[in-house]
Amino acid sequence: MDRITAARGTELRCKGWRQEALLRMLENVLENCENQQELIVYAALAKAARNWDSYHAIVATLKSLEEDETLVIQSGKPIGIMHTHRFAPLVIMANCNIVGKWATSENFYNYQEQGLIIWGGLTAAAWQYIGSQGVLQGTYEIFQSIARLHFGGSLAGRFILTAGLGGMGGSQPLAGTMANAAILCVEVDEARIDKRIASGYLQKKTADLDQALAWILHASASKESLSVGLLGNAADVYPELIRRGIVPDVVTDQTSAHDLVYGYIPAGYSLEQVIALRKSDVNKLQADAGASIAREVSAMLEFQRRGAIVFDNGNNIRTQAVQYGVKNAFDIAVFTEAFLRPLFARAIGPFRWVALSGEAEDIRTIDQYILEHFQDNEVAVNWIRLANQYVPVEGLPARIGWFGHGDRTKLALAVNAMVREGKLSGPIAFSRDHLDAAAMTHPNIMTENMKDGSDAISDWPLLNAMLNCSSMADLVTIHSGGGGYSGYMTSAGVTLVADGSADSDLRLKTTLDNDTGLGVLRYADAGYEEAFDEIEQKGIRRVNV
Ligand code: NAD
Repeated sequence: MDRITAARGTELRCKGWRQEALLRMLENVLENCENQQELIVYAALAKAARNWDSYHAIVATLKSLEEDETLVIQSGKPIGIMHTHRFAPLVIMANCNIVGKWATSENFYNYQEQGLIIWGGLTAAAWQYIGSQGVLQGTYEIFQSIARLHFGGSLAGRFILTAGLGGMGGSQPLAGTMANAAILCVEVDEARIDKRIASGYLQKKTADLDQALAWILHASASKESLSVGLLGNAADVYPELIRRGIVPDVVTDQTSAHDLVYGYIPAGYSLEQVIALRKSDVNKLQADAGASIAREVSAMLEFQRRGAIVFDNGNNIRTQAVQYGVKNAFDIAVFTEAFLRPLFARAIGPFRWVALSGEAEDIRTIDQYILEHFQDNEVAVNWIRLANQYVPVEGLPARIGWFGHGDRTKLALAVNAMVREGKLSGPIAFSRDHLDAAAMTHPNIMTENMKDGSDAISDWPLLNAMLNCSSMADLVTIHSGGGGYSGYMTSAGVTLVADGSADSDLRLKTTLDNDTGLGVLRYADAGYEEAFDEIEQKGIRRVNV
């Protein structure tokens, strides 16, 4: 079968642009994925569809789907077509939701083996993944926040150590150089290093630690930005740096540490040996991966003790380390609580848009609009300037931008008007990461140490999804964790199509206002001052109890 890429241009294969948009979003996820043959998009195991039969059935259904019908998808498999109405979502999904006490990684792997379930990641099965750019601004904002809090406002001359150059982790080198740092990324799979160099996210590579350190230390001494991919295993390299007495300024990790079977590669193993061990002795594989993570996290704790700023970058690495004997792994902070919560409390989060025609010029036109009309939004304007300069196109041209309540709606309505007036070459799809104010419960990542102790309560993403259906979104999905994330998270996703119509105006305004409105209310409910301020400023209607 030919490699799948997203259709370009303005010719429709479906009965309307809304259906065509969702089909192109699905194809785009596969165009950008890490392993197309296996339908694996990122994060070790996050898939776009249950299997190839399901994929082809989804494509065929989207092509014949009427405006007043809704396709129902369960864990990446199309189940049925329901007659609804033209303001109902075209697609609703529930991916990988397993009831409470059954939500263990063992049960997940069994269900997966039987073909009953897939893990959808956040944006993979939701057809919202846009390549490494999807987390790029988030990683950049974390680095900027660290610069402000700890390094007098700039990371120039600073050394960042991290690991993992996969679908998401691949954003780290570019985020590091955009923040003016020298960043060393340890990666065990040379093909991933090469992929990031080819996509323009990474600058140099070597398998020699001395060479890597020479480049990095020279760059930081001369305050130049630089990214280096080091072929090696983080569980070897981190302790080796401790042994040599080298202390980076900032340390994190974005390997797929959440999954001990399909994600994290234990020290001393080749990739082929790991693949073989998955079949021959999965328990040994898990034990060895856990032991390696324990070594790596112990080194991270030691870096922290020696003065480095160390944080967990959303991959459950601390949780794994505790299970493998590192009792104080949670002395390391998680990025959301440490750096991003003040933004989330105002429902400012990773909004994104995709040029469905494939024309990169459309993204530049929208960039320009933002620079002219959002001048009071410092975070957005700074980011758009940088993104315009540094972020290469991957798949359908797309942009991520952290916007909050009101601003997302303002932007989307302006874009819809541009589509209507022919100022863009085709419709634009809007979505966001599931890591968003109302949309995610993950007590070790998104909602750790919430002020009111509501860390594990997953009513919020469920309400979020129901509200987005009621608000006429085009695609709505509810996901829970799979593999190593089983039992750890529930999230909701949403996609909207700006096709220039008046119906689109209505859908965009209602859904985006309500999506972020609920986010602000969730943080107000937990007692965050920023949320109260946002309610006051923007007239969000809270019921006081
Ligand atoms: P991926 O599976 O595409 O890539 C992981 C990479 O880590 C692979 O390239 C793999 O070769 C490498 N790796 C594995 N073990 C290693 C080791 N011991 N040493 C060095 N390299 C090793 O995953 P991804 O999509 O990049 O996601 C990585 C992690 O980040 C996942 O746990 C994911 O859930 C998490 N994540 C966090 C956020 C966030 O917002 N912070 C967003 C998305 C994903």
